Amino acid sequence: MSYVKVLVLDTTLRDGEQTPGVSLTVEQKVMIAEALDSLGVDIIEAGTAVASEGDFKAIKAIAEKGLKAEICSFARIRKEDIDAAADANADSIFMVAPSSDYHIQAKFPGKGKEYVIEKSIEAIEYAKERGLVVEFGAEDASRGDLDFVIALLKAGESAKADRLTFADTVGVLTPENASEIISRLKKELKAPIAIHCHDDFGLATANTVFAVKSGANEFHATINGIGERAGNASLEEVCMVLEFLYGIEVGINKEKLYPISKLVEKFTRIVVPPNKPIVGENAFTHESGIHTSALLKDARTYEPISPEVVGRRRFLVLGKHAGRASVEAILKELGYSATKEQMDEILARIKELGDLGKRVTDADVRTIIETVLQIKSEKKVKLEDLAILTGKNTTPMASVKLRINGEERIEAAIGVGPVDAAINAIRKAIKDYADIKLVSYHVDAITGGTDALVDVVVQLKRGNKIVTARGARADIVMASVEAFVEGLNMLV
Ligand code: MN
Repeated sequence: MSYVKVLVLDTTLRDGEQTPGVSLTVEQKVMIAEALDSLGVDIIEAGTAVASEGDFKAIKAIAEKGLKAEICSFARIRKEDIDAAADANADSIFMVAPSSDYHIQAKFPGKGKEYVIEKSIEAIEYAKERGLVVEFGAEDASRGDLDFVIALLKAGESAKADRLTFADTVGVLTPENASEIISRLKKELKAPIAIHCHDDFGLATANTVFAVKSGANEFHATINGIGERAGNASLEEVCMVLEFLYGIEVGINKEKLYPISKLVEKFTRIVVPPNKPIVGENAFTHESGIHTSALLKDARTYEPISPEVVGRRRFLVLGKHAGRASVEAILKELGYSATKEQMDEILARIKELGDLGKRVTDADVRTIIETVLQIKSEKKVKLEDLAILTGKNTTPMASVKLRINGEERIEAAIGVGPVDAAINAIRKAIKDYADIKLVSYHVDAITGGTDALVDVVVQLKRGNKIVTARGARADIVMASVEAFVEGLNMLV
């Protein structure tokens, strides 16, 4: 059989927000919805209108944005749930009825399956009267009796539900079962079928993919796979598996996957594990020396897809395993050559960062190379020692020992901060030799983190001559002093 493009229902704002500890503001939900819309998802399940004032307001605010996606509210088979969704101007509801004995007995004590079917029909008919698109789902269907699940969904279809969902509420489906069940549902029902999977056994992506492969017309997923307990199927994983491994077009803007992953991570404060496929920090990061040298020749050697496809870039982490080969390859790429001494210094600095437990990226290596290559072998001004004292109730103070033209100078100075104090001490030490002015001072952290490599660029002036020098260290004071001393060497 052939079907039109598979529909994507994103439930980051509903099932995802039910992640323990997550609570989003209306403004954050609107921003995520806008990002989901530009990602190209078909349906945004924006919350549960009846659940709280905040959810109601968020659904309403998102509905007012006039996005391309259908805006959906979660609902139970209850009039007040349907009314709240309609009053919030949702386009549709994802309305679930219990379908396993566990759920039926917990939610409708003393009532039976017939009662659930009756209530479902009533609710669907009422929702249609209120002008809502109805996606009707069998909750906990994977632990229910499949014949009853089919009877329930058939009743939904006869009540004019627009789509029907099989929910693996506690994540116990297997890929084989998913295939078998969806094939059967496709035979028995005419309405489009959706699959909703949870990741309790780590099978949410596989189950979702097998369901789609077997004819499911729609799948539910969340960004970063957040959701109750172990979470829902990851939208980014399902989309990439379907498109790249099965050739099934999902039609989303893949290059927006990483930015939206970061946005959701920031707002929910649920940190994406570094080894998470597609969006994890390490997903396109390479460390070992052999891998990196092959990668520099052809990235396909150790990457199934290019990072750019999902809006990312590649990181080469050289760290402690930094090989001469990797550094030589980067040098060649930059068009530089290094002497043996410079090469040793580059490797020593990379190792120093690596020993601090810091991941050294290719950007760090570039900065280190450029810094080392500008250092003149013959130095007139050499920093022998530096000590800093700073604190909450202490005026920052620095003492330096410089060797200038072979002569030792020791000076101390205070400053507004440790960097200022260190630079003042150096200025004092050299003032008999040259009058140097600091024209500009600029700091960049190459990668995030307080232990990141810091790149300091200074412009120094002596008379009419202006030079630019840089220092790169994990320590901001050392980086600043190094940049300053390098500049001095260019001027004196
Ligand atoms: Mn769920």
